[in-house]
Amino acid sequence: MVNVIIGLEIHVQLKTKSKIFCSCPTNYRDVEPNENLCPTCAAQPGSKPFGLNKTALDNLLKIALALNCRIRDSSIMQRKHYLYPDNPSGYQRTSKPIGAEGNLGTIRIREVHIEEDPGRYELREGTVDYNRAGIPLIEIVTEPDMRSPEDAREFLDELSAILGYLDVARDEPGSMRADANVSIDGGTRVEVKNINSFSGVVAALAYEIIRQQNVVRRGGKVIMETRHFEEASNSTTTLRKKETEEDYRYLPDPDVPPISVNRAHVAELGRKMPELPRAKAARLSKDFGIRPEDAWILVAEVEIANLFERMAKRAIPQKIALWIRGPLKKQLNYRELTLKRSGLKEEWLSELFGMFEAGEVSDKGMEQTLIALFEKKKSPKTIATEMDLLMTKDTKEIGRIIDTVVEGNPKSIADYKAGNEKALNFVVGNAIKLLKGRADSKLVRELVLKKIKEKK
Ligand code: ADP
Ligand code: MG
Ligand code: ZN
Repeated sequence: MVNVIIGLEIHVQLKTKSKIFCSCPTNYRDVEPNENLCPTCAAQPGSKPFGLNKTALDNLLKIALALNCRIRDSSIMQRKHYLYPDNPSGYQRTSKPIGAEGNLGTIRIREVHIEEDPGRYELREGTVDYNRAGIPLIEIVTEPDMRSPEDAREFLDELSAILGYLDVARDEPGSMRADANVSIDGGTRVEVKNINSFSGVVAALAYEIIRQQNVVRRGGKVIMETRHFEEASNSTTTLRKKETEEDYRYLPDPDVPPISVNRAHVAELGRKMPELPRAKAARLSKDFGIRPEDAWILVAEVEIANLFERMAKRAIPQKIALWIRGPLKKQLNYRELTLKRSGLKEEWLSELFGMFEAGEVSDKGMEQTLIALFEKKKSPKTIATEMDLLMTKDTKEIGRIIDTVVEGNPKSIADYKAGNEKALNFVVGNAIKLLKGRADSKLVRELVLKKIKEKK
């Protein structure tokens, strides 16, 4: 077995109205290139940063507290120098640690600090867009405590859940980026840079572990380097030899006053901290008697956890948990939606589950109603009625269809009479299909048998 060591550096864009050192808006995706800029975020000569955005600092503090970090009383902004067209000043402002020595479960958090996002340079067109320059970012650095890509996935899933609960991070594709550090069997570590999604991290790690194993197997040595993740092929390629701290010539930024963190304010933020996913999962599992693995899936999105908790007061909790993690999550995931973004109202979901429980719709009918609910956004009872999905108890209607099916399949009936049980299933299946699943299969089976006997 290969011995894998993984440590992550995770960048998260914070949710704020204005940029980190100026009052430009942060909706950089919704506007024309270079619309959200001013001399400060475009680093015009002579321009000065305003003070550090207070909401950005608060958001960082909330995250650091949720990660059980010790909060430092003060920190400073530094200039991290590099030359690239996405960065007109020639340096990126990045703070010294503000939170440190935390943990998320068994993974230790080394530190959390704040940075400014650079702009965007389109290499192929040779254009730059500084709308993103100055979006507040944090970097979370873990200790090398993960032992497999699966550990990394679990860590990142819990981190995303926490960010959702705190409502402090931008929630859109590309708003979280990670660098993944990985080494095997005590060898040199390789850093895979700028992975744009959490699923990309897992894929990059899986690839990189195999690549390093192959290097060693061929008698080579893994070299210390920075690699780039190729999303299209799920592979990594050499970017450059790793830069060292000195390459960046870190200097304190004389334009930004030291960051001071008020103890009482931090304590206040701590008191207002919501119940976090880990604690919520433990509580739901204990209070409602649901399986821990189901609870864990429910708490990934706070809106879903809340939905469960309210619905569970009115029906059997384990059944609701399975319905949410099964059909409901399946439809949400298929549409790449969260419950929050889906616009599905709790009363509709509750009503649909109630109908399902009471046997008013079949499995299939429930699923079709749910699918239609995403479009129609109204009472599932109305939808199921309109789509003719409600179970029928009307024995006359069922009887008519059974007549048709039994008359129409003389060969199957003969086969059944000759002792072939499967032939009966075929006839029953046909009847249910014609009834669009709107009748109980046991009942249909009984009626089919009755009809066959009558025919004798
Ligand atoms: P540097 O100072 O060169 O950036 P650090 O020691 O600060 O290196 O670590 C940066 C990241 O690399 C951290 O997330 C850390 O957990 C991870 N890391 C450190 N050592 C290893 C290792 N041997 N294998 C994998 N990851 C590692
Ligand atoms: Mg880094
Ligand atoms: Zn600006």
